[in-house]
Amino acid sequence: MLAAAVAVAAAVATAAVQAAPNPAAYPTMDKIPAAVASWSARVLNNIPALPVNAKQLPNPDWSADVTTCRAGAGKVWGISYDDGPSQYTDDLLAQLKSRNLKATFFVIGSRVLANPAVLQRVHAAGHQIGIHTWSHPALTTISNDQVVAEIVYTARIIKEVIGVTPKFMRPPFGDIDERVRAILKNMGLTVVTWNVDSGDSAGSLNVAAQFRQYAASNSGPVISLEHDLFQSAEAQAASALDAILAGGYTIQPVDACTGITPSYDESFWSLVDGTTIASSSSAAASSTTAAAKPTTAASATSAASSTPTQRSSNGAISVTTTSVAALSALVAGVASFFIGTVVV
Ligand SMILES: [Zn+2]
Repeated sequence: MLAAAVAVAAAVATAAVQAAPNPAAYPTMDKIPAAVASWSARVLNNIPALPVNAKQLPNPDWSADVTTCRAGAGKVWGISYDDGPSQYTDDLLAQLKSRNLKATFFVIGSRVLANPAVLQRVHAAGHQIGIHTWSHPALTTISNDQVVAEIVYTARIIKEVIGVTPKFMRPPFGDIDERVRAILKNMGLTVVTWNVDSGDSAGSLNVAAQFRQYAASNSGPVISLEHDLFQSAEAQAASALDAILAGGYTIQPVDACTGITPSYDESFWSLVDGTTIASSSSAAASSTTAAAKPTTAASATSAASSTPTQRSSNGAISVTTTSVAALSALVAGVASFFIGTVVV
């Protein structure tokens, strides 16, 4: 394990962009990672001593977060998709390309490990990438150390795969409080939630109709929430785009619509582990980009599977694989990922 992790770190240092990251260097898919003391030591300063919640907050206060595009933007619609990359993401990329649109993708670290080439295509197509944690927990329900690990491992796999480190992050379920916000702020991250929820993760099949009605009756800026993890949600994305455009809105990624730049910030690494990484070029495919961070994580466990997964609209999980072991690990992980709550 340690040797493998060191080998990965060495490989990353010589070539920032990795087509196939080594799962042994990362935590288990869809499981909350173990704390990494060195990261916690640097990040966990002046964190409010709020309790760890038993459940996610029903109505989190987002008044300190970015919920929509810049004031006065008018009919500008920041479009965002969460929980990928998945086997459906390529179709969404095609739909966006055919309309000459750019979007923001808040990605799950363990799904980046499973689908690195998909994330590379998303980034290469010019879309913005944001952090959406490693295993998708409600962040107010986990410890300070766990919040740090969720974020840093996700930043690490993104850096390894596309060569840049996102500045934007979205907390799963929008679950955030002053404790979690302080941790994220100490890592230099900009928290983005939304002001229009498509409801696709709750099973809505009327996203286009909802967006059409909203666009026709509103004139203010929007950041919307959709998903590209499930077929039932992704299949609605194209008609939803057309509905927004028909309503006279201009569609932009979140960075453009908020005017908050840069989208990527390598100073993240100096904040979390004391290592300064030079800014990567905008061309992430360049082999000359700066070395990706990743300290060796002795606590990392292997097991992430690259097995493609699918979840139907009725919640059933189907997996195409020839490996029984991979299937078992994956089903256990996916099940824990979604149990008891709506995916957001
Ligand atoms: Zn989510």
